[in-house]
Amino acid sequence: MATHKDKPQVVVLGGNFAGLGAAQKIRDYAGDACEITLIERKAYLDFIPNIPLEAFEGRDPAVTMHMDLLSALAKDNIHFVQAEILGLDIDAKTVKIRPNERPGAPEYARGYDYVVIALGAKLAYDDIEGFAEHGHTVSDAFHANRLIDFLENDYQGGPIVVGSDRFEQGHKGRPDWLPTALAACEGPPVEIALSLAHWLGERNKGGPKDITLFTPAELIAEDAGEKVVGKLLEAAGSMGFNYVNKVEGIKRLTKEGIEFTDGRSLPAELKIVLPNWKPHDFLKGLSVSDEVGFIVTDMRMRNPDHPEVFSCGDAAALTVPKLGAIGHQECDVVGRQIAGDLGRLSEAEANKEWHPEVICIGDMGGGKGFYIHATSWFGGDIQELRMGKMPYMQKLAYKEIFFRNNGRVPSWGVPISEWSIETLLPS
Ligand SMILES: Cc1cc2nc3c(=O)[nH]c(=O)nc-3n(C[C@H](O)[C@H](O)[C@H](O)COP(=O)(O)OP(=O)(O)OC[C@H]3O[C@@H](n4cnc5c(N)ncnc54)[C@H](O)[C@@H]3O)c2cc1C
Repeated sequence: MATHKDKPQVVVLGGNFAGLGAAQKIRDYAGDACEITLIERKAYLDFIPNIPLEAFEGRDPAVTMHMDLLSALAKDNIHFVQAEILGLDIDAKTVKIRPNERPGAPEYARGYDYVVIALGAKLAYDDIEGFAEHGHTVSDAFHANRLIDFLENDYQGGPIVVGSDRFEQGHKGRPDWLPTALAACEGPPVEIALSLAHWLGERNKGGPKDITLFTPAELIAEDAGEKVVGKLLEAAGSMGFNYVNKVEGIKRLTKEGIEFTDGRSLPAELKIVLPNWKPHDFLKGLSVSDEVGFIVTDMRMRNPDHPEVFSCGDAAALTVPKLGAIGHQECDVVGRQIAGDLGRLSEAEANKEWHPEVICIGDMGGGKGFYIHATSWFGGDIQELRMGKMPYMQKLAYKEIFFRNNGRVPSWGVPISEWSIETLLPS
């Protein structure tokens, strides 16, 4: 498909939640005022938040959690380039790419008028000593299937630890209202511990008392707020889970257990960990990045020094915690901003305020889930926690709606979910 070179060229880097969402929002608000090209190494979207649930319910996430990206993009006349992104030249306004359908392709430079950096973060398991030999996780299909295989065939009923390594957040350009997080995203470890306990129980292989949740922070999932976490920990404690906080980080994993950087250690036959969410190496050192490599933006997701550079999702420095739900909110901001620049939205519409919110629905096993809605991390006063069948059903329904609508969740989707859970379920 040829591009119209006379129109402003918007290039979106990354095609998972934030990349696809931003490209669609730009099309929604800017209409045909620009050409949009999305560059991504794989031709599918990976629905990461439901990977643990799928694995514990016996489905292979590689079969059930991949959504065709090309047909979704074609519906909105968004060009797709399958390539590995190698670097950016911010002054020359170019992206360096290598097509990756067949090995052997040379490097190409791709120019842009606007670039949206939606490349997520790398999950740095390779920084954890002993992970390959002794560690497990569920953040992708490979590791989820490897974990289920271990549980089915090798697990002997010994102690289990579940938790996160220390997250390194940048400081450059960070607003005062955004606190320092010691872990990037702690909904997943809570979810994994709960659903794993159910999985073990069903097979008479163990239960909550065998599992210790650990966190580098004072409080696990601290971005959900003290009230929510207090209730979560009370519920988990009454089920029999063990809990260890302020471990600082993971020193190494061994056959016998886990060692923390604060000097403590725990015996563990099974170690399920989430690592540091680290920016991609080629983003570090760019004039638009903070000192670790996350992209610095204002509340409009625009870099203050390079107004043609936007970022959303996990790659953006403002996205803390690293949650798909926050990336989703940011995509709308990006779409409005670019449409405003291109004269398709009024200033008021383009600059509509963004109010970040933590929204997280996690699986608990046995057809139940937990729902967290909080703004306290960002200085607000919302701290809602609900548990029961409805959050579980909504977690499944959200994925179903997302896939059926090519990644477009109707505007009433999130509000109706919030309203129904918060109104109909007791707190
Ligand atoms: C186990 C687990 C459970 C989670 N559960 C939830 C949940 O319940 N709710 C929630 O809101 N969030 C959840 N999250 C977080 C959520 O998955 C992320 O916040 C979300 O995926 C971020 O979206 P993104 O598009 O910014 O980045 P990503 O999803 O990481 O996508 C980045 C994209 O960029 C592409 N890319 C990267 N580098 C290159 C390159 N060099 N060249 C070409 N392409 C490249 C990648 O292939 C990828 O498609 C969970 C995370 C994990 C690990």
